[in-house]
Amino acid sequence: MNFSSKLLEQAVLEFGRLPGVGQKTALRLVLHLLKQPEADVMRFTEALNRLKQEIRYCTTCHNISDHTICEICASHKRDKGLICVVEDTRDVMAIENTNQYHGVYHVLGGLISPMDGIGPSDLQIDSLVSRLEKGGIHEVILALSATMEGDTTIFYLYKKLKDFGIQISTIARGIAFGGELEYVDEVTLGRSIATRVPYERSIA
Ligand SMILES: [Zn+2]
Repeated sequence: MNFSSKLLEQAVLEFGRLPGVGQKTALRLVLHLLKQPEADVMRFTEALNRLKQEIRYCTTCHNISDHTICEICASHKRDKGLICVVEDTRDVMAIENTNQYHGVYHVLGGLISPMDGIGPSDLQIDSLVSRLEKGGIHEVILALSATMEGDTTIFYLYKKLKDFGIQISTIARGIAFGGELEYVDEVTLGRSIATRVPYERSIA
């Protein structure tokens, strides 16, 4: 692409780095922004600046948060003895949208994937074990996607957690038709959490 302006080229290059955005789309977005009132563009850039500088990760569950303890972990209405383990914040949002889960979460930050060089130490697994060591947990739900990485991670976590003497359950594995929790509709996801099964039974 030949650009008539270095500034234009630079902006298109940056937008083009976003996942799923090709150069043509990047150019369209940049030209669209150029046509907007300056205040609108400022609001856009300020949101991005603040996002990176001010966002926190909950020190308990590692979900993206505005504070060091997220609203879910801080809520008195939540069952702190019930932990739902998920891959990332999109899964928390999907499960919250069902309005059927009243426990807390633990966000791993990914799944074990030897192909991508992601091992257990790259994920928030030690801190999950620490939460169990502190006591007061009666059940852990492993709500990970029905992929090879999800299965590997579930099996690893099961081995790590089984000696704590708590209930370890998984959600119905057939539900994730896209392979990702976030794509499952709310009714199906809510039902699969309500009808979760003990992990031992699900591998038998
Ligand atoms: Zn939290």
